[in-house]
Amino acid sequence: MELRIAHLYARLLNIYGDRGNILSLQKRALWRDIAVEIKEVGLQELIDPDWADIYFVGGGQDKQQIMIAQDLQRHADNLKRAANNGAVMLSVCGGYQLFGHYYQPHEGPKLPGISLIDAYTVAGNKRMIGNVTIKLSDDSTLVGFENHSGKTFLGKDLAPLGKVIKGNGNNGEDGFEGAQHKNIYGTYLHGSLLPKNPQFADKLISEALTRRYGEVKLKRLDDSIEMEAHKHALVLKP
Ligand code: GLN
Repeated sequence: MELRIAHLYARLLNIYGDRGNILSLQKRALWRDIAVEIKEVGLQELIDPDWADIYFVGGGQDKQQIMIAQDLQRHADNLKRAANNGAVMLSVCGGYQLFGHYYQPHEGPKLPGISLIDAYTVAGNKRMIGNVTIKLSDDSTLVGFENHSGKTFLGKDLAPLGKVIKGNGNNGEDGFEGAQHKNIYGTYLHGSLLPKNPQFADKLISEALTRRYGEVKLKRLDDSIEMEAHKHALVLKP
């Protein structure tokens, strides 16, 4: 078996260690003797919508988002086709914002998103910074760190990723964080997210491999260190 990962704008949208998500997916596959191929997709480069099992896009300052917003438009149809074929997509913060309809920064024009998810983002007056814990629908928790001024609002039929237990989440108002639609996940959780949330990393890997190989049961790993980090993050102040 092989896990194919497309890392969008790896050199531009990579603040707060978001590349750690790629390393976590890679290691958790290799530890199970699953081969991994990672392709970085930069400005002006192309996406083969049938190649990747998982797409990842990280966060960035407004400046980097302005640099990539127009370029990302080229990929809208191919990413929608990949999503409709069940590809897994994880988008963090700035990448999450551009997977929605638009991001309106503090200054300058509205940045177009690719409407992969029914959400929009407008920059708020205060930066939402700090440790975050959210509870998913299966009562598991995700821990991470947020740093964004953007306030994201979900369309009425778009499910959040989870309920905010600690921190601000999407907009500091509605008590929800992130978004999920099909196998597309958006979140504000940096940190990076996956190393301290091994069960979520495995969920993404399993969904990605199942799409190509049919039902995949992942071998259990010893996650004692990862769960120590998770438990430590749970008790950090917001
Ligand atoms: N520039 C966006 C904001 O401030 C996203 C920031 C980020 O990716 N951490 O909301």
